Amino acid sequence: MIPFLDLKAQYASIKDEVDAAVLNVLASAQYILGDEVAALEEEFADYCGVDHAVAVNTGTSALHLSLLAAGIGPGDEVLTVPFTFVATASAICYTGARPVFVDVEPVTLTMDPAKLEAAVTPRTKAIVPVHLYGQMADMDAICAIAERHGLVVIEDACQAHGAEYKGRRAGSIGLSGSFSFYPGKNLGACGEGGMVVTNDSQQAETIRMLRDWGQSQRYHHVLKGYNYRMDGIQGAILRVKLRHLDAWTAARRTHAAQYSSLLDGSAAVTPPIEVTGRRHVYHVYAVRSHQRADLQHRLQAQGIQSGLHYPIPVHLQEAHLDLGYAEGDFPVSEAAAREVLSLPIYPEMTPRQVAEVVSAVEQDSYVC
Ligand SMILES: *Cc1c(COP(=O)(O)O)cnc(C)c1O
Repeated sequence: MIPFLDLKAQYASIKDEVDAAVLNVLASAQYILGDEVAALEEEFADYCGVDHAVAVNTGTSALHLSLLAAGIGPGDEVLTVPFTFVATASAICYTGARPVFVDVEPVTLTMDPAKLEAAVTPRTKAIVPVHLYGQMADMDAICAIAERHGLVVIEDACQAHGAEYKGRRAGSIGLSGSFSFYPGKNLGACGEGGMVVTNDSQQAETIRMLRDWGQSQRYHHVLKGYNYRMDGIQGAILRVKLRHLDAWTAARRTHAAQYSSLLDGSAAVTPPIEVTGRRHVYHVYAVRSHQRADLQHRLQAQGIQSGLHYPIPVHLQEAHLDLGYAEGDFPVSEAAAREVLSLPIYPEMTPRQVAEVVSAVEQDSYVC
């Protein structure tokens, strides 16, 4: 059996450190925010190469507060992609603004800058590119368009901890960047968690207030805020895991390189491409296949788990039909939704397992 990811193996590899960190928080009784969360904020800001980081309870909350702090609200339009996890669009809806979708480009499946400008209207206030699968969107082109139209850029870096674009880290290029620490993300808590990073001290200050009931100081609620605080235990665990993140990313990249070299020229699938100048952190290793269902069944039959990221683009999700989009509006996203298949990738995987997955992929689908 090859699982899609193996969180038990990850825990086993760092059990002593994690257990000690958790016990320490239990004894300190700093269960919400506190010293561990504050230390994590400093360390994660350093990791991303930014001045400020504000910890929150989920990646979705990080996006929500980033948008609010940037002044996004009812009547505004926010440009993003339909080929993403639904949270990107939901966070925009939470503010009362309207998500306006821009198709992705076919190689990286990230926002297509060539289609961006046509979607700008007088109501457009922000662009939310998604660094899908761990590879960053084309930030130079996106930021140039944002600048031309006076728009802010808020990065959805929830899948891209440590990814780089021309040497700059995910989250450090836009006005702010949002991260998720959902357990299966490249840096994952033992529960929920999220973070906003920014170089703008005003944004950081506002987000810090918004996550904790809008308080500027105790009893003084200057903004209509939220309870989006991070738990102390998650902060402590994430500090431990952050120390291992570079090694884990290196392992993911090694597995991805092995996959890609073995799948080079494959008749069964098209492997993903790491664009020159963009450091991919392979949160997901997604191949494309015109016979995806067959391929997934074949893998399943051999005990190999796989995933779909994502089979239904957001513009065709029932919850968002009110936006008025229809099938055919975003053909590149729709084709990707039909063809992508995520193969197992996680740091603790072995080269032997990667080879085993590849031979199952390559096996003639008619010889089951
Ligand atoms: C995981 C994810 C989110 C949401 O993060 P949560 O921590 O689950 O709220 C948002 N956007 C993308 C692209 C994600 O992958």
